[in-house]
Amino acid sequence: MIVVMKIGAAQESVARVIETAEEIGFNAHVIEGKERVVIGLVGVDGQRDKMTVIGEMLGVDKVIPISKPYKLSSREVKDEPTIVDCCGVLFGGENIPVIAGPCSVESEEQTIKTAEFVKAAGASMLRGGAFKPRTSPYAFQGLAEEGLKILAKAREVTGLPVVTEVTNPKYVDMVYKYADMFQVGARNIQNFALLTELGKTDKPVLLKRGMSTTIEEFLTASEYILCEGNKNVILCERGLRTFETATRNTLDISAVPVIKAKSHLPIMIDPSHAAGHWQYVGPLSKAAVAIGADGLIIEVHPNPEKAWSDGAQSLTPTQFLELMGSLRSIALAVGRTI
Ligand code: PEP
Ligand code: MN
Repeated sequence: MIVVMKIGAAQESVARVIETAEEIGFNAHVIEGKERVVIGLVGVDGQRDKMTVIGEMLGVDKVIPISKPYKLSSREVKDEPTIVDCCGVLFGGENIPVIAGPCSVESEEQTIKTAEFVKAAGASMLRGGAFKPRTSPYAFQGLAEEGLKILAKAREVTGLPVVTEVTNPKYVDMVYKYADMFQVGARNIQNFALLTELGKTDKPVLLKRGMSTTIEEFLTASEYILCEGNKNVILCERGLRTFETATRNTLDISAVPVIKAKSHLPIMIDPSHAAGHWQYVGPLSKAAVAIGADGLIIEVHPNPEKAWSDGAQSLTPTQFLELMGSLRSIALAVGRTI
């Protein structure tokens, strides 16, 4: 349920509501709005009588039940968009950050070269997989900690913050040491133990939608992170599995306005894993900016033909540079910047 405090309600009243709610068994999440404080209470279902108790407390304006299975990610709890800050790169505001880099970290030279190039082209962050969740156990699984060290080195050289995938709760501490943002891949959206562990950290989480995840399931999965206290969640649409085989996945572009209507969390687009082919990455990126996405994550490789994973969907540095130019004009047309 949501407890809406009166405008100007005293700090002590807020504290008393939290104390009472926690005694009942709720977890209280305080949201400081521009005008008033709102307290999201989660964890206890069907407590209508408790709603009455809290509704009568000093400083409380009203108590509203949350109608959706997702709560803390919902616009019902917080109407203002959330801005997630990753080392000064802001997701959810006027600027649209572009994250770029290789699918996998292959070597120091490949990663640093790519990082320098994407930075010069205007990317705000570097991506690169050190733990690769591959469909086949025989495919390249990533360089693990060695790959993380290379990413940290690339950050040192370029100053670009780094996002990388974490596939298992047991690697969260290790990835935390090297990365600035965690990525949860499409295959791990239902790895609730992983989501819970990430919720206990203080670094942003880029949560990818699964290939057959509904928007309701997507938002409900984000609750596993939010309810542990980590409010820095960025959602990412990366294409769904459909009957179509001309693309690797079908980009659900409508997820952007739908999620914006239902949630205050930033929503970004991964055109690379949706397209599966480099030719379509540009058009999908342009559509993403035009429709209001809060960021892009694009695979770029210095030599896509030689890439150890996802070469077919990777842009060359030159293609990426050209794309960034067109994206800037589209952003301008929709009142944003890149
Ligand atoms: C990736 O980012 O390289 C990746 C594996 O993405 P997804 O989880 O969306 O397939
Ligand atoms: Mn990839």
